[in-house]
Amino acid sequence: MYLCDYHSHSTASPDGRATIAEMTKAAIDAGLSEFCITDHAECAGFFERGDLPPGLVFYKARVDEQFAEAQSLYGDQIRLLYGIEVAQGHEAPCFHKDMVNIPCDFTLGSLHNLRGKPDFYYMKGFASKEECEALLTQYVNELFEIVALGGFDCLAHITYPLRYMKYKYGYDVSMDAFEEEIRTLLKILIEKGIGIELNVSGLRDGGNVTFPEIGLLKLYRSLGGEIITVGSDAHYPRHVGIGIAKGYEMLKEAGFTHVTTFKNRKPSFVKI
Ligand SMILES: [Zn+2]
Ligand SMILES: [Zn+2]
Repeated sequence: MYLCDYHSHSTASPDGRATIAEMTKAAIDAGLSEFCITDHAECAGFFERGDLPPGLVFYKARVDEQFAEAQSLYGDQIRLLYGIEVAQGHEAPCFHKDMVNIPCDFTLGSLHNLRGKPDFYYMKGFASKEECEALLTQYVNELFEIVALGGFDCLAHITYPLRYMKYKYGYDVSMDAFEEEIRTLLKILIEKGIGIELNVSGLRDGGNVTFPEIGLLKLYRSLGGEIITVGSDAHYPRHVGIGIAKGYEMLKEAGFTHVTTFKNRKPSFVKI
């Protein structure tokens, strides 16, 4: 099967743990046909590290250098793509514009934290289910702002806060109450020619959840959505490629016949 992992990070990101070459080697070992590195470009940097300036966090020179090394070592063994995960664009639209205009193969648009708050990843729990629901309302509103900015190829992990609220801290929350808003959001994406991502990071380590889950994939498909990538969101070599094949099965179940790949920001469709 032609497997493509379209979401991953290297040490060119503040939270990556291996070089692009090491991640690419892992992709080859995992039997992938395409591997897209999508290092972080945070428009309102959330990383709690003293050596980073406030504002934009994207180490382009590091990515360029590491990508060139990986390409020279492994470019003949796998199709290697240069992607960027552009996040928090709504907090700094100028940075967002700069980031989505960097020449590359693929861009993800992301929302990791609400305006003025830390990344959900860094939040140390939630006070109550009600607090979670209020944050989800705010999240959906800010997601609309990210989509309004546009300029990226796929919207990443649409149900990102659930990764923490539900699956880390155990709150019984979902985004079902936002079905109308999500439907509207998906329609806007489709009109703009922007796709979505099936993030399969929740299939690792015995987990059985994806971001989003199958219901939202079916909704997107029923609205005419076709552009969709599948990504592991790997930050370690051992996570590269995990869950991609299962993700393809989910896409089929949701009515997709193809997965999307990118080169120079142009989509192609690969039969699954
Ligand atoms: Zn992300
Ligand atoms: Zn990521």
